[in-house]
Formats: sequence, C-alpha cells, structure tokens
Amino acid sequence: MIRSLRIEDAEQPSDLRIQDGRITAIAPSLDPLEGEEIVKGHGRLALPPIIESHVHLDSALTAGQPRYNESGTLFEGIEVWSGRKRDLTVEDVKDRAGRAIRQQAGFGIQYVRSHVDVTDPELTALRALLELREELKDTITLQLVAFPQEGILSFPDGPALMRKAAEMGVDALGAIPHFEFTREYAVDSLNLVCELAAEFDLLVDVHCDEIDDEASRGLETLATRALELGLRDRVTASHTTAMHSYNNAYVVRLMRLLTMSGINFVSNPLVNTHLQGRTDTYPKRRGVTRVKELTEAGINVSFGQDDIVDPWNPLGTGNLRDVVLNGLYVTQMMGREQIQQSYRFITHNAARTLHLGDDYGIEVGKAASFVILDASSWQEALAWNAGLIASYRDGRVIARGEPATREILF
Ligand SMILES: [Zn+2]
Repeated sequence: MIRSLRIEDAEQPSDLRIQDGRITAIAPSLDPLEGEEIVKGHGRLALPPIIESHVHLDSALTAGQPRYNESGTLFEGIEVWSGRKRDLTVEDVKDRAGRAIRQQAGFGIQYVRSHVDVTDPELTALRALLELREELKDTITLQLVAFPQEGILSFPDGPALMRKAAEMGVDALGAIPHFEFTREYAVDSLNLVCELAAEFDLLVDVHCDEIDDEASRGLETLATRALELGLRDRVTASHTTAMHSYNNAYVVRLMRLLTMSGINFVSNPLVNTHLQGRTDTYPKRRGVTRVKELTEAGINVSFGQDDIVDPWNPLGTGNLRDVVLNGLYVTQMMGREQIQQSYRFITHNAARTLHLGDDYGIEVGKAASFVILDASSWQEALAWNAGLIASYRDGRVIARGEPATREILF
C-alpha cells in the first residue's frame, strides 16, 4: 500500500493498494492488511504513466554525426541524417535507442511511439527497433511507425518499402506529404498509406505539413481519407505546422472536416519553435499548430518531444515536462485551468492517440502502472521541474529517484 498520494488533480490525498500488479483499492484512508508493506507517498503527485507520443529513436543521440545542423532547418536536418544513415547497423541503433529509452524512463515515460525511417533499402533501423520492442515489452511499450523520411513516391521503391515495413510488423504507417516532389505525389502518398493501413489493420501517423508554407494542405486529404475509409481516430496528424500559417477563413472550413473525421493531433512545440520560421525575417512565425483552438473544438491533441540530441534538436533530453512548458507558453495556454489540465497532453490524450485501451489510468481494477513526482500538484511539478520519485509498471518499480536537495549558503 502507498500511503498518501495526490492522484492527478484531486484536492485531497488518497491511499492506494496494489495486489498482484493491479490497483485493488483507492480511498482517503485504508486500513492496512495483515503483513502489508506500507510505502510513504508524502502527499506527492501521482499521474498515469507519461507517454511519449512522437519521437525518433533511430536518430537519437547522433547530434554532430557526421556534422551539426547549423542552419537549424528541418531540411538541413534531413540532409545530415541522410549522411549518418549510411553507417547504421542494428547494434548501433539498438545501443542508442536503448540508452534514449532508459533516459526517458527516468522521466516517468512508459509508453513510446517512435517513428522509424524506412527510406533505407536495408531497413536497418526498423529491424533494430523491432528487436528492441520485443526485448523491452514487459517494461516499456514501444509503438513503431514506418516513417518515409525522404518521401514515398519521391524515393526509389518507396511504396514497396512501406509495404515491406507493414509486413515486418510495425504498429503504424506514416507519410511526409510536404517533402514529396509535387502536390500530386503528396496526395497520392496519403491515399496509398491510408489504403495500406486499412489493408493491414494498422494505425496511421503522418508527418503532416511540417512546413511554414500556407499552401501545404496534406491535412485535408488525410482527414478526408480517415473519414471515408472509416479509419477515424486510428489516424493521427503530427506537426501540422502549416496550420499556423493558414488563413482563418480556410481554418473555419477545415475545422468542420477535422471534427467530423475524429483524427488525433500531435504537436511538438519545442522542436517546431526551433525548426519553423527559419525563412522569416521579422515578424517571425512560431510555427506551432493551433493547439488551443483544436483543444477547444474537442479534438484530441497530445505533445511529443520529437528528437533527443539529434540533427533536429541538439538539446532534447526526453523530459516531456520541457515540452509541455514550452507548449503552454508558445500557444498561450496559460490560464489556471489550462495549466492544471496540461498533464493530459502527455498522459490521457496521448493514450487515446496510441490506442492504449481501457487499462490505462489510476483506477481500481486497472494495472498498477503510474508515476510519482516530487511535487504536490502538476502546476508545481511543471514550474519546478519536479524529479521522478518512482515509476510503477504493473506494480513493479522500473525507475526511481530521490527528492532533489540543494543548500543555499547565505
Ligand atoms: Zn517527427
């Protein structure tokens, strides 16, 4: 039994009992059972496991290899990665991704959706991450998206590589319409991926319109295909930064379709404030999708880190607190309720996007999987960058930390 935890946004602390890996009781005060082990929670914050809904583990920890991305653009990042990609081995990818996952676990992350570059005739990164997904499955849930970094129709054998990835057992299929050679290729690539996902019964997660070009409109095609093929909330649009630049009259029309389609959104505010707006002088666009408006329309949005020390983000640590903090500032979601509820971007909302099912959440009868942070509320955790006290997975502690201490010598 854990004595005194503040569960999510509850006003008062509760005691929580774990038996055989499940939560069997939650109440303001539980009477100990005979011989029961009691852990003190000290009124600290308990959240459902933190979820990384958008990251690239295959490129993690490669910043500077073979050179740094000096311009800070998405496109130079792709060029640098294309050079590094030639040297990939299964061991190299497993080593770096494994280290990145352990770093993420130290921040309370237990579920990770990783995009994996499949514009590689050998599919080396995918083979490595499929092995890692299997090796870690009892501790960390890894969901893999076949991600055509250099395009599907604009890359040699792109469609065949996507089909191969589907056959090898990915969880989801991606696309990159804003990187295809033409608008027609962009549309065709989205049709291809949605039809392939329907055929293999897979989720879809597209890098959609990650560009400041207001004419980049892959999103309307993706949402239409999601609606018409009945894929609906099995489809996710990541980034959608062009939506930042769309004119409002178009967005009003688009929002009707987005709501009807039921698709999810993932925003990566930290990385997109870094990569976008690079062709602007001043005023300089923030390049983050319309999180506030999507959320207010009842559309599901989660936040992702995107990159951990790689050509697109030399300073990404894996800590999603940084992403939420940046996201709230840049989208101006700083009202009291907006701050208090913002943990949902990296917990419940992300769980919907990943289709984690009904066992997710801190409730009696569900798996005893949750994290305890060194703070008494989410607002405090966010403001003070609270460390992890413990990460429980099915009743087992998989990562733990000590309260941070510092001595002020005056
Ligand atoms: Zn990405």
